[in-house]
Order: sequence, then C-alpha cells, then structure tokens
Amino acid sequence: MTGAPLATKLRKIIHCDCDCFYAAVETRDDPAIAGRPVAVGGWPDRRGVVATCNYEARRFGVHSAMPTSQALRLCPDLLVIRPNMEKYRVASQAILGIYRRYTDLIEPLSLDEAYLDVSDSQVARGSATLIAREIKERVHSEVGITVSAGVAPNKFLAKIASDWNKPDGLFVIRPEEVDALLAQLPVERIFGVGAVLAAKLRNAGMHTCAEVQQRSRPELRALCGRFGDRLYELARGVDPRVVSNARERKSLSIEETYVEDLRSLSDCRAQLDLLVERLVRASAKLEGDECIEALFVKIRFDDWTKTTAEHIAQAIDRKLLDTLLERAYARAGRAVRLLGVGARIGRNDAAAQMKLFDAELAPSDQPT
Ligand SMILES: [Mg+2]
Repeated sequence: MTGAPLATKLRKIIHCDCDCFYAAVETRDDPAIAGRPVAVGGWPDRRGVVATCNYEARRFGVHSAMPTSQALRLCPDLLVIRPNMEKYRVASQAILGIYRRYTDLIEPLSLDEAYLDVSDSQVARGSATLIAREIKERVHSEVGITVSAGVAPNKFLAKIASDWNKPDGLFVIRPEEVDALLAQLPVERIFGVGAVLAAKLRNAGMHTCAEVQQRSRPELRALCGRFGDRLYELARGVDPRVVSNARERKSLSIEETYVEDLRSLSDCRAQLDLLVERLVRASAKLEGDECIEALFVKIRFDDWTKTTAEHIAQAIDRKLLDTLLERAYARAGRAVRLLGVGARIGRNDAAAQMKLFDAELAPSDQPT
C-alpha cells in the first residue's frame, strides 16, 4: 500500500451481512422453532462447535466457535441443528441474484457476506441508501431472512457500518461524518487489527483512531512494520481497496480414480490418509485472505452414482473427513470407483491480515 494515493474517487460501497445466516435459514424453514434459542453446529458428542446461533441463544452467552457441549451447558434448551450446507448455498445464490439487480460489482466474502460497489448504479436514482433499503426488503420478502447493511465511501467503513445496529440494521456513513465517527472508534475495530496488535497500540497510548491519527507514518512503521502505512490510512478512514468480483468463491479438492474398485468401507479408509495429506499440501497454496468453511467427501460408486457428504469446518480435520466418508459410503454401500476429499473456501480478509501482523510482530523478525 506504500505510496497509494490518499485521495481516491468518491465511491458508494454497501457491505451486506446476513443476520445469523444458517440459523435464520433453519428458522425460516421451520417456523415452529421461531423464538427458541437455535444453534447450527457440529456434533456435541464429537467436539463439534457452534457455527451460527440466533439472538435468543446469544442471550445465554452462546456464540459461534464455542464447543456445542459448552453451549448446551449454558443453554440447556438450545436447539442444535446439524448444518445443511446445500440449503445455505441455495439461499446464498438467491441473495446474490438480488444483489445483481443493482450492480455487477459484487465481491462475496462468504455465503452470507458481500461487498457491493453501487457507485455507477442508476437504480433508485443512484442513492446507495435507497438501494440498501430495497435490497433488505427484497431479501426479506424473497428469501425470508434479514440482512444488515452498511453504506459508506469504502470497504473498511461499510463493514463497520453494517455491524452498527445488527440485526436487521441499516447504517449510513456519509463522507462528512467519517471524521467524527473515527475519533471515538477503538483501535480493535480498525480493519485487520487483531488482539496482538491492539494490545501493542494501547501500550503505546493509542486507544482510538483519533490517537493513531496523531502519529506519523515513520512512528507507525516503527511500531508495526509494513502495516504502519495501512494503519496510517485506515485511521483516517482511507481504504483504497476496490470491490473485486474477479475472484469467485472456490473449493479445493483432491480426488483419485482407482484402477481397481475399492470394495469396502475399510478399503476406502485405507486411502483416506493419502488423500488428506495431499489436501493439506494443496491448502498451503491458499491465499492470505482465504479460509476453509467446510469439508466434504465425494464418492463415485461403480454404478456411476455420485454422492457428497459435507460439514462445516475451519480447518482440515482428518477425523471429520473419516466421519463424512462413513456417511457418504453408507448411502450406497457398494464398490467405489472414485474417492475425493475437499474444502470449500471462503474469504476472511480481516483474519488474514491479523495473521500477517501477528507474524510480523513475532520476535523472529525476518527481513522481507
Ligand atoms: Mg453474517
């Protein structure tokens, strides 16, 4: 980012973030559970974690990434639903279809989050606020869930805005409001500042963006390396990153067609380690802002039928893949011609940046 111009063309960015997406889809499909604490997540008996929970569950202290067993201790009435990724993907596609009525410049971050650049949109007289309001109404009436939207001149601010009054929120940050808003913004809320860097900034007397603004570029560079320049800009509400629809959501997969069919589940299991090893190796090529959202096992049987078993995951987990293999195999229980393992890839730019800084802040600083 060094040398990037501070003054960029005024843009209109909307960050759309569905509210407790997986749980919202499940509640939509079973209105009888509305009002109950609901979590979508993994097996409590197999160290599963909560992927998403609704606000009723959050009142009990349940949150995502918490072990399901702990969530059930906090909230014994919690309804735990096994994730159905296929259903969420269908809902996600429908929502993207609605976004496309307003702009072609859409950057999905995950199944439930996307940036939209509506700077050149002629819809709603070009008003980003009206577009965001319409999008919220349409997603609600056509897909049956709520979206929180943030409207701002760039991605960093749009993301802060969408988080402002969740759920079902709409918050607009106008260019002239940026300074006042940033003045009080805690450093943790700066895009990409993780726990390690936040502690470092606070130790150096910087608790808010206003306090970061008092420091020079060289000072910030000395404190946080390459990120210093970026921090200098972000603290002023400057974020030149464009909304990029060049990259589609993707998946990573390794598959093998066997010369001789695998005759049993244990034959398949014997191949699993090798496939998982290759998947781990392939995952090393993921880019900094890409993260694993789910794992799957794919099987083609000797009668050419295909099946895929999938589950939410944040990392490659051999045990989970073994369980998925068992589930997929049981669907036909016949000889296997092709076996595949894979990961669905999402994007988490903030987490990726965090990793980068934490690495940069490590004592073994190597020249780059
Ligand atoms: Mg969300």
